[in-house]
Amino acid sequence: MKAYDGLYIDGAWRPAASTDTIEVVNPADERVIARVPAAGPGDVDTAVRAARAALPGWAATPPAERAARLAALRDALAARKDEIAETVTAELGSPLAFSQAVHAAVPIAVAGSYAELAAGHAFEEKVGNSTVLHEPVGVVGAITPWNYPLHQIVAKAAPALAAGCTVVLKPAENTPLTARLFAEAIHEVGLPAGVFNLVTGLGPVAGQALAEHPDVDLVSFTGSTAVGRRIGAVAGGAVKRVALELGGKSANVILPSADLAHAVHVGVANVMSNSGQTCSAWTRMLVHRDRYDEAVDLAAAAAAKYADRIGPLVSAAQRDRVRGHIEKGLAEGARLVAGGPESPRAQGYFVSPTVLADVTPEMTVAQEEIFGPVLSVLRYEDEEDALRIANGTVYGLAGAVWAGEEAEAVAFARRMDTGQVDINGGRFNPRAPFGGYKQSGVGRELGAHGLAEYLQTKSLQF
Ligand code: NAD
Repeated sequence: MKAYDGLYIDGAWRPAASTDTIEVVNPADERVIARVPAAGPGDVDTAVRAARAALPGWAATPPAERAARLAALRDALAARKDEIAETVTAELGSPLAFSQAVHAAVPIAVAGSYAELAAGHAFEEKVGNSTVLHEPVGVVGAITPWNYPLHQIVAKAAPALAAGCTVVLKPAENTPLTARLFAEAIHEVGLPAGVFNLVTGLGPVAGQALAEHPDVDLVSFTGSTAVGRRIGAVAGGAVKRVALELGGKSANVILPSADLAHAVHVGVANVMSNSGQTCSAWTRMLVHRDRYDEAVDLAAAAAAKYADRIGPLVSAAQRDRVRGHIEKGLAEGARLVAGGPESPRAQGYFVSPTVLADVTPEMTVAQEEIFGPVLSVLRYEDEEDALRIANGTVYGLAGAVWAGEEAEAVAFARRMDTGQVDINGGRFNPRAPFGGYKQSGVGRELGAHGLAEYLQTKSLQF
């Protein structure tokens, strides 16, 4: 067990003023692996002051120099990729191969993309007789969840730094060690003191203090819709900018002309990866009634293959919540065809890969985010019915469409109320805008759209 007493503020690790601590637990074996400070409002205030003091200098730094620092940050993360993967596995529980391929590799790619974007972005443009300046918004309060611990941090910090903003990060309480590694990489590349600051702490204490701080100009939050709603209200009250990346209940629509076995196979893999703790996971599989039974059999067989491969959920609370959802699904009439609510192992926060059939659109498991390895398979009558079901939740984060011809899938995707759609298994693109329609959020992350979130415009007329 390692005990850390520092917060990264104003370019150095400094003891927290608060004496409270957070225990970090390995969800695979339930052992306490570390203890980190739980910052109080005073610590948050110190961090925000440091970020405010550093803002004028960093905002005035030429974009090419900011780009060079981001390239160095990408390299520093790449040099630590094994340590990053091992740390994510230790505190989140994801299998090491997934931590290497996704949790470590994707943020390195995203940091690299912002090094390039910062170098090439037009921070000034001509519009008629005006020169429009794209200036940094200011001090950013970044609040991140645990499910993709480094990706969520880099998806906020890299564009903010590229834009010339300074940052105070409050990472999720379950995964502070990955955040500490990120701060170490930042320190290594020699960013000016105060440009990036890390306060580990509890959401309702440190997170809330950061969101409410009058000297924070933009709150960028990723997490649950419930907390996002509160943060949006706080930001609205103070008339400050807010970006919200929230929950999802995405639909995987398999049209009758699709290669069913392939679509089901990829769809199940999508839901089971990261133990289902992916906000954009396609947790509702929609299948035409003529192919429904075949799809259910395929999904059950595919899910069973993940029984030994899947990692635990992040915490006992998350495991219990997911089990409760499975039980509720069964109580409301769903049919269990794989997995179930029982614990598959004596130790660790594991939940079996679960498939629920005969799920109807109004059931709780078809409406609420579960955030676990649980797939619901729904039956549709025709394409209009499929569209109604796909769009019939409060969320709109992601989705997938499968068809024999790409054009047919694209035509359906155009009618979906959601922020991104994978066509016939299209790959994740770290430069494409990511974010939600409806209650899945406000704003976009990644690529040029992600950079724009951290910029405000000033027009000079001549
Ligand atoms: P959460 O909302 O409980 O916590 C997210 C972050 O907010 C954490 O850092 C937490 O400490 C902090 N927080 C909690 N209460 C707070 C408060 N009152 N004030 C300020 N900050 C507070 O969510 P979680 O359980 O950590 O993450 C799971 C949720 O995140 C899921 O609903 C998932 O869909 C969502 N999520 C969305 C995206 C996306 O990009 N849309 C990505 C990942 C996760």
